[in-house]
Amino acid sequence: MAHAASENVPTFQARGALRQRKAPTGGVRQNRAMAERVIPLVDARVAALAVPAGRAAPASGHLADTLGRPLRDLRISVTDRCNFRCNYCMPKEVFDKEHAYLPHAALLRFEEITRLARVFLAHGVRKIRLTGGEPLLRKDIEELVAQLATLRTVDGSAPELTLTTNGSLLARKAHALKAAGLDRVTVSLDGLDDAVFRRMNDVDFPVADVLAGIDTARAAGFKGLKVNMVVKRGSNEHEILPMARHFRGTGTTLRFIEYMDVGATNGWRMDEVLPSRELVARLRAELPLVPLAPSAPGETAERWGYADASGRYDPRLGEIGVISSVTQAFCGACNRARLSTEGRMYLCLFAGQGYDLRALLRGGADDAALSAAVAAIWQGRADRYSELRASLPSAPGEGPPRGRVEMSYIGG
Ligand code: SAM
Ligand code: SF4
Ligand code: SF4
Repeated sequence: MAHAASENVPTFQARGALRQRKAPTGGVRQNRAMAERVIPLVDARVAALAVPAGRAAPASGHLADTLGRPLRDLRISVTDRCNFRCNYCMPKEVFDKEHAYLPHAALLRFEEITRLARVFLAHGVRKIRLTGGEPLLRKDIEELVAQLATLRTVDGSAPELTLTTNGSLLARKAHALKAAGLDRVTVSLDGLDDAVFRRMNDVDFPVADVLAGIDTARAAGFKGLKVNMVVKRGSNEHEILPMARHFRGTGTTLRFIEYMDVGATNGWRMDEVLPSRELVARLRAELPLVPLAPSAPGETAERWGYADASGRYDPRLGEIGVISSVTQAFCGACNRARLSTEGRMYLCLFAGQGYDLRALLRGGADDAALSAAVAAIWQGRADRYSELRASLPSAPGEGPPRGRVEMSYIGG
């Protein structure tokens, strides 16, 4: 269901096809090669799935989907815009100045997001992550954080509030976010070498400014910072060791993410994926690592701790994580729902369509109706794309299925 594109989905294909022939704007050889592989953008945003009718039953905090997975984690995309053009996410040949972003009126307002978040929490969500696009581009984002910080989970505790950012505006925003009640920050950073980093973000953004953002977040009191590095074979793999050395012993956990076939525009190829197993082996050849137990059920990262001279985990040196979405699927424990910028509920990162909760909100639905809708949608969930990846008609290397939604829209 979630991976099939609707036949009614209008597309940007004509425009995208024209753009395919257009000369790439950058002079970097890698970009040129990628531009030749850019796949026409399909605008899956325009079609939404009908919200299934649900019985108005009080939320119990114990929803389960068809595979018995609970709902625990809500990712909210607050904007589909970004000031970076990471070629694995928003390649600039597609996300150029002609790209139609959502109009402001289409975005969920903060009050609408907070109202929906309250409904999700009543169904068992414990952790909320703000994402995008670049979430710090959303004006007054700290006001949304402050509203969400007033909410409670079913057991009466405060939900864990987190945010994923490219770090470009973090130095400016960290203190306000902390004061508003944000608990944690994850910063995406794909290399330490300035030239590599500028090439990865593809807007010539200097790495020093992101590192300054990380320092400011630490100074603002954020504990347990995480840094996410997407590893693309042939692009930034030589940054793995320098990144590990840089963050070892700093209290910041570095997590390596396998380059994923998410969306339909990044020209993904399996041979550009560096399997986590290989990455860990490379690291272990230089830095002693020991496996650590998962810290929470549904944890996406496999944890490895730095060992001391005796070969035992040394918490002062910290840990790394590897997120192996391509080579080791973790759908069996996937407890995440996603709320897109315009209020659609998605059940999988690789879904083609979402359920239009904004239509309910703006159509005057009361909280009981919203709650019943969320329950019915989650209870019908059967998504497990990563487990099925190899057996799907558009298998890796053969191009993406039509209509798969972009990560910048659905939220990472
Ligand atoms: N702009 C913010 C950022 O970059 O942190 C938040 C949104 S971004 C879509 C969230 C995360 O998705 C980032 O850590 C990014 O590196 C990751 N990501 C985007 N495209 C990816 C891909 N094709 N494969 C793996 N990770 C990807
Ligand atoms: Fe922007 Fe984040 Fe996507 Fe990079 S990964 S283009 S920073 S949304
Ligand atoms: Fe969850 Fe979909 Fe990723 Fe599987 S592929 S872990 S169901 S988001």
